[in-house]
Amino acid sequence: MPLFLPNFDLQHYNTLGVPVKAQVYVSVADETELVEALRYAGHEKLPLLILGGGSNIVLCDDFSGLVIHIRLHGKTLIAENNEFIWLRVAAGENWHELVEYCLDFHYWGLENLSLIPGSVGAAPIQNIGAYGVELKDVFEELTAIDIRSGLPVTFTKEACEFGYRDSIFKGRLRDQYVITAVTFKLRKQAHLVLSYPALRDALTPQLSDSVTPKTVSDIICAIRRSKLPDPAQVPNAGSFFKNPVIPVAHYESLRLQYPQLVAYPVDEQQVKLAAAWLIDHAGWRGQVCGPVAVHGQQALVLTNPGRAKGSAVVALAEKIQQSVWEKYGVALEPEPRFYP
Ligand code: FAD
Ligand code: NAP
Repeated sequence: MPLFLPNFDLQHYNTLGVPVKAQVYVSVADETELVEALRYAGHEKLPLLILGGGSNIVLCDDFSGLVIHIRLHGKTLIAENNEFIWLRVAAGENWHELVEYCLDFHYWGLENLSLIPGSVGAAPIQNIGAYGVELKDVFEELTAIDIRSGLPVTFTKEACEFGYRDSIFKGRLRDQYVITAVTFKLRKQAHLVLSYPALRDALTPQLSDSVTPKTVSDIICAIRRSKLPDPAQVPNAGSFFKNPVIPVAHYESLRLQYPQLVAYPVDEQQVKLAAAWLIDHAGWRGQVCGPVAVHGQQALVLTNPGRAKGSAVVALAEKIQQSVWEKYGVALEPEPRFYP
């Protein structure tokens, strides 16, 4: 039987460092404990918060319910052929440690996703992405427990309906499943993705056969460390907003006014704007609002140096949304999930 802890302080369990309490907290190390915890929540009629590394949530206030901390561990090589290996990884494994493990064993494909905080089980929730690679590019299937029935289910890639920082688990099936393991399909031969300017620029002096997935990972780690605040030093939840995707006509009219606007084509009808550019050029970069702030190196990151409640972060986010809307007519959508 897992240990249910009442009135549990969550400050060290969310990267924004928000000091709120969970009515009840339980850490689960295997599927049996998870099912017991789900049964307890059902019996006590407690709302649920499934917690991984707490790097993509905003805890606005105390959570009146049960926090289930996913601590399932293990990695299993389940199949291989000449080209690929299939690796099944438990949901509680740390994401970056998995990336390092795969680099050590020469299982290629995760290198561009280096240094993303959080757990393996949360990665499919928003189809994590960075430097031109998304989880869906290396994803085979996942297993989950149906919260209502307590039974295991398998989801294929198609069933997950992955999109840009999105999946079915953020939409139609939100709060219905707990992911217990993810199976990755990784390459035996490296296939480097070097399309992002920051990555290309850093590699230019050595663009040759000597570039390996390990080089790519090292460079991405170095870029990230130089731009992003370490949550252990300066609490934050990474990019606070998704990059907005707008119609080409809207983009063309904005570009007349702002020729330096940073944007990337999505398809013939749509363009993705760099939200950081919009926020920066609306004057927000480096702004401090009481206990919370907009990071000086990267305007997409809101920080919580004063370790205030998440509601203070949300209030700042709303001011930024309002100002970006007034200046560019573009709606910014938050990326992390707000609780309660
Ligand atoms: P949590 O914050 O614990 O949970 C996030 C959501 O997923 C919650 O709704 C939670 O209930 C749900 N969830 C968690 N685990 C499970 C599970 N096993 N089953 C069902 N639901 C679950 N994201 C990117 O995409 N790309 C980046 O480059 C990136 N960089 C970041 C950099 C920094 C400094 C920070 C702080 C964040 C960054 N993020 C990035 C966001 C974040 O790291 C990812 O979204 C990550 O996958 C969240 O993992 P987590 O375990 O911390 O999730
Ligand atoms: P960047 O390299 O300065 O690029 C700025 C923006 O332009 C990024 O948001 C990126 O979109 C987009 N972009 C750049 N090159 C692109 C290309 N060739 N094709 C399509 N889009 C392109 O970004 P950054 O802020 O330093 O972040 C680097 C990467 O890490 C990005 O992929 C970013 O998403 C990821 N990251 C995510 C988080 C998070 O919390 N979600 C936090 C930090 C970094 P995309 O964001 O769509 O990739």
